[in-house]
Amino acid sequence: MAEPKEKGELLPQDVGSDDCLTSYTHVYSPDLLKDQVAFITGGGSGIGLRIAEIFMRHGCDTVIASRNLDKLKEAAKKLSAATGRRCLPLCIDVRQPESITAAVDETLRELGRIDILINNAAGNFLCPATSLSFNAFKTVMEIDTMGTFNTSKVVYEKWFQNHGGNIVNISATLGYKGQALQVHAGSAKAANDAMTKHLAVEWGPSGVRVNTLAPGPISGTEGFRRLGGPRGEAAGAFQSIPLQRAGNKTEMAHSVLFLASRASSYVTGAILIADGGSWLTSANDVSMLLGIASSKSKL
Ligand code: NAP
Repeated sequence: MAEPKEKGELLPQDVGSDDCLTSYTHVYSPDLLKDQVAFITGGGSGIGLRIAEIFMRHGCDTVIASRNLDKLKEAAKKLSAATGRRCLPLCIDVRQPESITAAVDETLRELGRIDILINNAAGNFLCPATSLSFNAFKTVMEIDTMGTFNTSKVVYEKWFQNHGGNIVNISATLGYKGQALQVHAGSAKAANDAMTKHLAVEWGPSGVRVNTLAPGPISGTEGFRRLGGPRGEAAGAFQSIPLQRAGNKTEMAHSVLFLASRASSYVTGAILIADGGSWLTSANDVSMLLGIASSKSKL
């Protein structure tokens, strides 16, 4: 697959489906994560799957953990075939600490260590606040925010506290301007951004760095499809953002690799925005976005 060229800059390869790359050119040293182990929540699809693949292409073994074990098993098979590294699929619900505890115990039994935790699992959809049920708001908070705390706490207490480690949370820019129809996810991710700093302060002395990546609109993901990305792309909505395009999953994985590796050894409590400058200039027009939400609900 030829690398697409965007106004002079080479973009990393990507594929739009939940499959591995057909070719890959290293930006970082191929042994950057050699023999490390990464535990990635929501690693069976979208951005999480690509993070797993890029980590494995840098010598890392991975655990991909979420609710749908069949999907995870299929993803793990593809990931190991493409990279030659081990990938352990484990069933967890980040809302249930006991399921995380069991998965972390199994990881330590099978792979012997954990060096990196990626808190990527999340739920999202477009919904005006007045139509959002109490339960829907609570569910997003429970998955995105409580899930991030639960998983971080279990991994810290079982391994990072005595061995150090790296946590990278996957956030969003939704709360920065109060994005319309996103009070649930924007509030949950804002809480996670605060959590990144709190945990960086408390766990730094144990050798644990805690950072966050905040992606913008990323093509080839469920989030992009649900939030009207393809429609916005067709309507030229990305022309108004500074880099004039959506990002791709490999670009997100490269930014996460920076934060999770020794390339960023003196960085903690930081939020890296990887959105092509989108939040600075993109529209926050309630009636336009309500139009997208109502046309999607008729599908
Ligand atoms: P995705 O493919 O839907 O990934 C979400 C993952 O979370 C799924 O693999 C899902 O797997 C898992 N998950 C959901 N609920 C869970 C639970 N209760 N316990 C454990 N796992 C759970 O979406 P994505 O678009 O790649 O998003 C990945 C991350 O990037 C999210 O944190 C999202 O907020 C962030 N982000 C995405 C975009 C974008 O444009 N796509 C933009 C900004 C931020 P199961 O169904 O198997 O549980």
